[in-house]
Amino acid sequence: MQRRYVALFLSLFFLLPVLAQDRTRTRIPIRIPDVPGYKTLACDLHIHTVFSDGSVWPDIRPEEAWREGMDVIAITDHIEYLPHKADLPANHNRSFEIAKPRGDQLDIIVIRGSEVTRDMPPGHLNAIFLDSSIPLDTEEWFDALKAAHDQGAFIFWNHPGWKGQQPDKVARWYPEHSQLLEQGMLHGIEVVNERQYYPEAHRWCIEKKLTMLSNSDIHNPLNLDYKVRQADHRPMTLVFAQDRSVESVKEALFARRTAVYSGALLIGEETFLKPIFTRSVHIKNPAVTIKGDGRTYVQIRNYSDIEYELEFGDEIVELELPDEILALQANRTVLLALRGTSEDRSGTKTFAIPFTVRNLLVGPDIGLKSEFEIEVTFVPEEE
Ligand SMILES: [Zn+2]
Ligand SMILES: [Zn+2]
Repeated sequence: MQRRYVALFLSLFFLLPVLAQDRTRTRIPIRIPDVPGYKTLACDLHIHTVFSDGSVWPDIRPEEAWREGMDVIAITDHIEYLPHKADLPANHNRSFEIAKPRGDQLDIIVIRGSEVTRDMPPGHLNAIFLDSSIPLDTEEWFDALKAAHDQGAFIFWNHPGWKGQQPDKVARWYPEHSQLLEQGMLHGIEVVNERQYYPEAHRWCIEKKLTMLSNSDIHNPLNLDYKVRQADHRPMTLVFAQDRSVESVKEALFARRTAVYSGALLIGEETFLKPIFTRSVHIKNPAVTIKGDGRTYVQIRNYSDIEYELEFGDEIVELELPDEILALQANRTVLLALRGTSEDRSGTKTFAIPFTVRNLLVGPDIGLKSEFEIEVTFVPEEE
């Protein structure tokens, strides 16, 4: 009898760490709705490995992406900067070749890319969807980008406001960038790199019709920089693709169907941000008035991983709106409290309640505008 308890105790003792470890191995897909006609794919298109200045073997990158619930990654080691070359052969194609089979096993799309790493101007640019990275190893920066362009690559400017290259910390546009743009050799810009948001880059993407991107540019193991299991996530580019394939991701990137998702921020065109918001949020109608309290409570369910911050405008006829920001927490139901201002508080009425979603940016400092249609059934006051 006693021995049985000892055995039970010992097995639990050894099993518990295994169970705890297993929890970290689970995959939780990222919950962001699709937009009309397209699938929303979570992509990180700027990643390093030991084959340039990263600290991770390439086959770990698809596994990190799988655990975080992502769809697509691009391996983009530096062409010019190879600090490990005394230990590893300098072969620009090798990191992709090692990462790709692991991606195939896990159903993570792995794209071949490279980072052309030059002084400003033009700075650092990623070329992705390459057939081979080797032709990008050239003397002149223009020839490297031309070699990528000749392979049909999608080319984007990385971290345009990085203080290492922009000492005044403001992203500056140079004639070299105009030259690339005019020759069809610049297709997008990182509006976010790591945790840094560049409003200038956001503005350029809108003005010059370039694709907005947000990438981790990760060098460390992912969990050293991001607490993925604790409501944190790496910066990612949401790509709105016809289906989940390399060809569709490429088509969507050239067609500028992307949004930037970093921390609490979601940045992009209203055509994408509005359906993501409206498909994430469900209102339970009619709202209920609590007897004696005099206030009406609207139940709002957020089915997505994005927390939305709502700011209400001036009060509307018959209803007083909250002054403070209402946070619609991810995967939760929250209550919006409204106070009736009219004398006649009986029957059922429908109200359109306008607000701004402060963390969904359709331009620098411009939040997405939306409204809720709310049906209120008033409980008559007792005499
Ligand atoms: Zn860089
Ligand atoms: Zn980089």
